[in-house]
Amino acid sequence: MMELATLLDKLKMEALSDQLDTVCEQAAKKDLDYRAFLAEALRAEWQSRRVRGTETRMRQARFPAVHTLEAFDFNFQPGIERKVIRELAGLAFVERGENVVFLGPPGVGKTHLAIALGIKAVEAGHRVMFLTLDELLTRLRKASAEQRLERVLQQLTYPKVLILDELGYLPMNRTEASLFFRLVTRRYEKASLILTSNKGFADWGEVLGDSVMATAILDRLLHHATTVNIKGESYRLKEKRKAGLLGKARTTSEPEEETATETTEPDPIH
Ligand code: ADP
Ligand code: MG
Repeated sequence: MMELATLLDKLKMEALSDQLDTVCEQAAKKDLDYRAFLAEALRAEWQSRRVRGTETRMRQARFPAVHTLEAFDFNFQPGIERKVIRELAGLAFVERGENVVFLGPPGVGKTHLAIALGIKAVEAGHRVMFLTLDELLTRLRKASAEQRLERVLQQLTYPKVLILDELGYLPMNRTEASLFFRLVTRRYEKASLILTSNKGFADWGEVLGDSVMATAILDRLLHHATTVNIKGESYRLKEKRKAGLLGKARTTSEPEEETATETTEPDPIH
């Protein structure tokens, strides 16, 4: 007969092994019957595995920062329908392999919301991966050059949620657009994409360097998708303004935040 410690080791019940004394003491104190005791013991193991799993998936997702839905100030961005975001946070779109697209000028919270949904998905047990579009294209170009494209596309189909941040900042050439098309096609109706872009769909032809390609990509991307168009003003600029670094309130459609900052009054600090 194997010892309890050996059994726990063989079954890889590390957490239960660590907490065994406490779990047994509690069971004695609460005078638990066999079933209730077994449930308590397994719950301790399960709880710890869940926490560890979430930590691992958080690391694997490679979020550039931790931005939560709870930290998002909807009052600052009244154009966003809370109902839509709440619905997305329920993650039915992930179960259905549907997409989410956040559009809007810089600083309005596109990346924040994309990460926040990513974190919800991680917490719910899904595999998530965050890449900027630039990182994605570099990876695909490299894979293609090394005759590994198939394998890399396969790897990129694996995460249930793939966040692609910042479409539109850098224009794509024909090869890159077709690589991107292949990825979108691979994941189509299987696994979700969350995309952010500072460009409206009408301008995607220009970004993708080819209007036929853009149409084919948008066709698949938007077939089952929720688009959140954020029209408000930049949260980054608001914070600077609050600190007295900027002058009068500016309107929403800044082409680039950098430009916007430069065109305001000279910065008294930097
Ligand atoms: P975008 O991706 O649209 O350019 P970000 O999501 O990067 O903008 O937002 C810029 C910064 O402002 C981030 O630090 C983000 O957390 C913060 N932020 C943006 N909008 C909000 C908001 N409504 N409430 C809280 N923080 C916000
Ligand atoms: Mg962003």
